[in-house]
Amino acid sequence: MATDHTPLAVAQAQLNLAAKKLNLDPRIHKILSEPKRSIIVSVDIKLDNCSVGVFRGIRVQHWDVRGPFKGGIRYYPNITMDEVTALAMLMTWKCAIADIPYGGAKGGVCVDTKKLSKGELERLTRRYISLIVDYLGPHRDIPAPDMYTDAQTMAWIMDTYSQLKGYSVPECVTGKPVEIGGSEGRTEATGKGVIHCVKEAASKIGLKLKGAKVAIQGFGNVGFHAAQLAHEQGCKIVAISDSVGGVYSSQGLDPQAVLVHKEKTGSVQNFNGATNITNEELLETNCDILIPAALQNQITRKNADKIQARMIAEAANGPTTPEADKILSERDICLIPDILANSGGVIVSYFEWVQNLTREHWTLEEVNKKLEAKMTKAFNDVYLITQKEESDMRTAALTLGVGRVADAIKTLGLWP
Ligand code: NAD
Repeated sequence: MATDHTPLAVAQAQLNLAAKKLNLDPRIHKILSEPKRSIIVSVDIKLDNCSVGVFRGIRVQHWDVRGPFKGGIRYYPNITMDEVTALAMLMTWKCAIADIPYGGAKGGVCVDTKKLSKGELERLTRRYISLIVDYLGPHRDIPAPDMYTDAQTMAWIMDTYSQLKGYSVPECVTGKPVEIGGSEGRTEATGKGVIHCVKEAASKIGLKLKGAKVAIQGFGNVGFHAAQLAHEQGCKIVAISDSVGGVYSSQGLDPQAVLVHKEKTGSVQNFNGATNITNEELLETNCDILIPAALQNQITRKNADKIQARMIAEAANGPTTPEADKILSERDICLIPDILANSGGVIVSYFEWVQNLTREHWTLEEVNKKLEAKMTKAFNDVYLITQKEESDMRTAALTLGVGRVADAIKTLGLWP
């Protein structure tokens, strides 16, 4: 049984909130509270030193009434069924909010990737996929990258699936390298989507992006691209951080130059002309827009009343705790929730799947144009609900996502 603050308890509390708003049929509420399928496998591989490694693998498929399951695979030492189930549930709502024809899933293997060689990682990936292959497929469940898995991991997944089927199936997985069917624009899609939402939200709250001060926690894939795109919009990036710590400059930082420095030294800290700050200081820094793009549970009841930003765009999954949410809402801070703000990645994953199914390859311009249209539509669908229902954006997004999935269940019925 989940205790109050486990990821699953938070996800279920969010579902309960949306159910209340929607006056949801209790039978559908009950159905959506649990995943359709949870799989646990034991991933046994030969290690380089001739011993055997045994790793726990998980795949949770929440609900697929709007289309096949879709969700990332993460490799991380302490993955729990609770966390994977919560993330699968959030993926169901995220796909529905973006209005793409998928249900939510998530998977993972409990492993510290830093302790395995490339060969061991390849064997781990292939073995894990072979154990769940009957539940995967382009019309069943389509994995994607997540924490500590990347385009190379997706290539191994495509090859394993294809070898087991006997023919090439690029549409069985997304986030692949472009040369084997990956989409243009997938790498920067999540950061781009975040900034499309920021642009829309800024126009609603009357915030001029030119000169707006932006602070970004996390400088990986999502954080860097969000920083670069905000910079291109004329924003002033005043603070950036990574796992080591952060840097601040009232004059503004050039994300590209900070990236070069990070690649050379291993961290954004000690960047020329900037002041070193801690991650805690970054969150409370004087800025207009705060973009958490690293870990969950960063904005809590301890620091929510010290946040100076007018807008928070949740690029990371779950960076704000429910208590902090309440404080930020009372303070009238515009918060763009993760299930809306970071959906650019799954949207371009959907584009990749469509291109693979039709054996087409779209240009970067086409992908970017379609991404902007989808993100802008999703943002405005959610915004309309905030106006109609006088609710915050997270509640509105959940209401939209859960409502669309519930409508599909109602229409399809429960068989037999
Ligand atoms: P990444 O591994 O590329 O980067 C993570 C960054 O966070 C790194 O710069 C790391 O140094 C930093 N970091 C780690 N611990 C930190 C700490 N304690 N304080 C500050 N920074 C810290 O990961 P990513 O793909 O950029 O993902 C970032 C977040 O966005 C995650 O929450 C992920 O679930 C979410 N997300 C990513 C995508 C995607 O397409 N990559 C899509 C949706 C959501």
